[in-house]
Amino acid sequence: MSTDEFDELPAPALTNDCFALPAGVNWTPVDDALAMLKERLNATTARQVTAVTETVGLILAADVVAKRANPPEPNSAVDGYAFAGAALGDGPYVLPLVEGRAAAGVPFEGVVPEGYAIRILTGAAMPMGVDSVVLEEDVNTDGARIAFNGPIKIGSNARRAGEDVNAGDVILTATRRLTPADVALLSAVGVAEVETYAPLRVGVLSTGDELVETGAAAKAGQIYDANRPMLLAQLRAWGFEAIDLGRAPDDRTVLADMLNEGAGRCDAILTSGGASAGDEDHMSALLAETGSLAMWRIALKPGRPLALGLWDGVPIFGLPGNPVAALVCTLIFARPALNLLAGAQWAAPQGFDVPAGFAKTKKAGRREYLRARIRDGRAEVFKSEGSGRISGLSWAEGLVELPDGAAEITQGSRVRYIPFTSF
Ligand code: AMP
Ligand code: MG
Repeated sequence: MSTDEFDELPAPALTNDCFALPAGVNWTPVDDALAMLKERLNATTARQVTAVTETVGLILAADVVAKRANPPEPNSAVDGYAFAGAALGDGPYVLPLVEGRAAAGVPFEGVVPEGYAIRILTGAAMPMGVDSVVLEEDVNTDGARIAFNGPIKIGSNARRAGEDVNAGDVILTATRRLTPADVALLSAVGVAEVETYAPLRVGVLSTGDELVETGAAAKAGQIYDANRPMLLAQLRAWGFEAIDLGRAPDDRTVLADMLNEGAGRCDAILTSGGASAGDEDHMSALLAETGSLAMWRIALKPGRPLALGLWDGVPIFGLPGNPVAALVCTLIFARPALNLLAGAQWAAPQGFDVPAGFAKTKKAGRREYLRARIRDGRAEVFKSEGSGRISGLSWAEGLVELPDGAAEITQGSRVRYIPFTSF
């Protein structure tokens, strides 16, 4: 496998109507919106050969087969004495010791005769002639013999060759995002390089005349840009290559230039702000001009329309400007979609049902996500649902997901809690 083989592999283009909604659709339920994304997006990045040590967070582009078994040969799981279990009668046992010992990396080269035992250390290959190990703590020895009690099962305290992985086994499959534990597994079975997708390059652009950079002096009417640093950090935490595309003013020409520049060096772009249909909502207006805009009026709170579109073939997720809505839309929609673009599988966040530590009457018609955390086994929610309340995002450790229909939640009702770490 050479690196060159994959360098030139072109990424498949997305169709221009990949975000189109069926005619007549107005408010889209969250699940329908997710199903459409799942169906229409596919991996868009090139493949590359990557050293295993550099793979954490990257996505496998091909299945991986073990080159060697784990363990490669039978070895001892403990410090103790090895012998042939089949040769023993009922205990107690007294066995003479052979000279020498078996240690990890320093095998005993001879054969242990039947009825004899040998000193063995954890990780040492089992010498010829033995199949079982008795723990050092369970033995008395005078240096020439050992004595211990039964019963001893054949194979005790010994690890069989390949009991974990056999050579030739498929250990990891394409679409997996690699973890530190995967790096251990790959290393143990002799795999030093794997085929991965190149990290998805995701641009982040903020829009709005009111935004200034934190650190600069803010005049009256200005606010610090909170979404861009938040989204860049979240993308990095997910293993994507986060690209800072800066802040765009509410000026269609400048915004278009910045999108052109971004589309040249990103595989996908998250923008925040200007995604609605108001006078200063230039993001949605520009995407509409390309003919690829889908204004997804998704039936969810918090979140105003999510503007999805293609800019020069690059998917744009036009997120709401409110930081809470921007993050919720990113967690719920952008994350699984970006995963598909990056070559991973669609992944629904894993939540679990817990008793509510709050009461709330919810109307039918849209799904709701509340900033939440678990205390004393119950989901408590932030004191305000205001979608500009960034302190509540920081307070929260996850989201409570309330179903699309009406709900009367009282203390102790079961509610679905999704920790942020599940996204
Ligand atoms: P918009 O979607 O552009 O109408 O913005 C909705 C709200 O979110 C407004 O109060 C904006 O000032 C605020 N907002 C937009 N972008 C950001 C940002 N990057 N950081 C913090 N707040 C923002
Ligand atoms: Mg705005």
